[in-house]
Amino acid sequence: MFDKILIANRGEIALRVVRACREMGIASVAVHSTADADAMHVRMADEAICIGPPPSSASYLSFPAIISACEITGAQAIHPGYGFLSENAAFVQVVEDHGITFIGPTAEHIRIMGDKITAKETAKALGIPVVPGSAGGVATYDEAKDMASAIGYPVIIKATAGGGGRGMKVAHNSKELETAFRTARSEAKAAFGNEEVYIEKYLTTPRHIEIQVFGDGKGNAVHLGERDCSLQRRHQKVLEEAPGPVITQALRDRIGRVCADAMSKLKYIGAGTIEFLFENDEFYFIEMNTRLQVEHPVTEAIFDVDLVREQIRVAAGLPMSFTQKDLKINGHAIEVRINAEKLPDFAPRPGKITQYHAPGGLGVRMDSALYDGYKIPPHYDSLIAKLIVHGRDRPEALARLARALGELIVDGVDTTIPLFDALLQDPAIQAGDYNIHWLEKWLAVNFAK
Ligand code: ADP
Repeated sequence: MFDKILIANRGEIALRVVRACREMGIASVAVHSTADADAMHVRMADEAICIGPPPSSASYLSFPAIISACEITGAQAIHPGYGFLSENAAFVQVVEDHGITFIGPTAEHIRIMGDKITAKETAKALGIPVVPGSAGGVATYDEAKDMASAIGYPVIIKATAGGGGRGMKVAHNSKELETAFRTARSEAKAAFGNEEVYIEKYLTTPRHIEIQVFGDGKGNAVHLGERDCSLQRRHQKVLEEAPGPVITQALRDRIGRVCADAMSKLKYIGAGTIEFLFENDEFYFIEMNTRLQVEHPVTEAIFDVDLVREQIRVAAGLPMSFTQKDLKINGHAIEVRINAEKLPDFAPRPGKITQYHAPGGLGVRMDSALYDGYKIPPHYDSLIAKLIVHGRDRPEALARLARALGELIVDGVDTTIPLFDALLQDPAIQAGDYNIHWLEKWLAVNFAK
């Protein structure tokens, strides 16, 4: 086992990894930019080292800064968290070339699941069902038009290099397609430096269902059921729950087995998430994230596992501490993402926290790096806390979420807390009756500008 792990991240996820390290008796090293000198992950880790100025490109994304921090502190492994360098195959290569262990998949696994077209091809070859669409990129409008008529409107144009819900455009007919094709390409170029786009069938009322997978790198792989992340704004997840309100045990077993078998064939190592759109009892692969996800705690709650601990174990060459038959669902869990943003337009609102009180009690987990007096820097993501509740069933989890939100105090900045207070009042949320488009429509009615 490692003696010391460096955490190449910040905020709540850095703290999450510090916690796992401490319980395993492993020393942790926090890295931070000058903007994060007072951050909670810096205070909680055993050691901390400043790696550069506020822009991520010069600190949290800097290969030399992070490798040097490992060398100076003697860290033997790097946990990347999510975002930043977590899915950067070139970084993984550099880490390994320096004799440091990357806590995550191999550079090759990241690469084959990296860009969306390659990922779809990989998924298909592994027997995972995919959304009907173009086999590769489409370079011209004429090609796009032919492809769209072949698969049938509506279609969605997506950036090959896309991520974070950006670079996607829907078209209902060939006229819309022309504009969608051109804007998607120019947006993709601006956002990702790669203008390649592809086309797929636009599903009109799907749910977003993702399967948590885990492998030991030696061919043993399991699935840990699904998370329903259909509540999205601008293709970004807002609330996640597990198990999925409409997923039966038979559906779970079916898709879970396909995913676990695929990971076993790949000799996948560590945590991964295979994302699907789910419509009329069919699953359609959209992408795989080769890392820990923001919403991993709902899975941890219902399976009573520590996914970060497992990541560290398999990276150190130890076996997973569970097999498929040990993994039984217990109850229901829900996570809400609390962002420092002002409603109704969700504009980022960094600033100083004047008062903070975390909820507690049975079945409540608060993953946050906030504290009284903390100044949220303007340079990074606006996620400031994740509130996760666990109950014996969905109604209990919902009641617990409402109760916990009532106890939570975050003063000094605007947050998305009022959104969840309002959402929980809605009968559709209570019933679990929503799809990926539901929240946008609900926001237009309930949080109109
Ligand atoms: P990103 O990597 O940018 O998050 P994804 O491919 O994971 O992109 O898609 C994000 C979200 O966009 C999905 O959860 C879904 O809401 C929507 N989406 C993507 N592809 C389709 C599709 N073919 N039909 C309908 N909605 C889609």
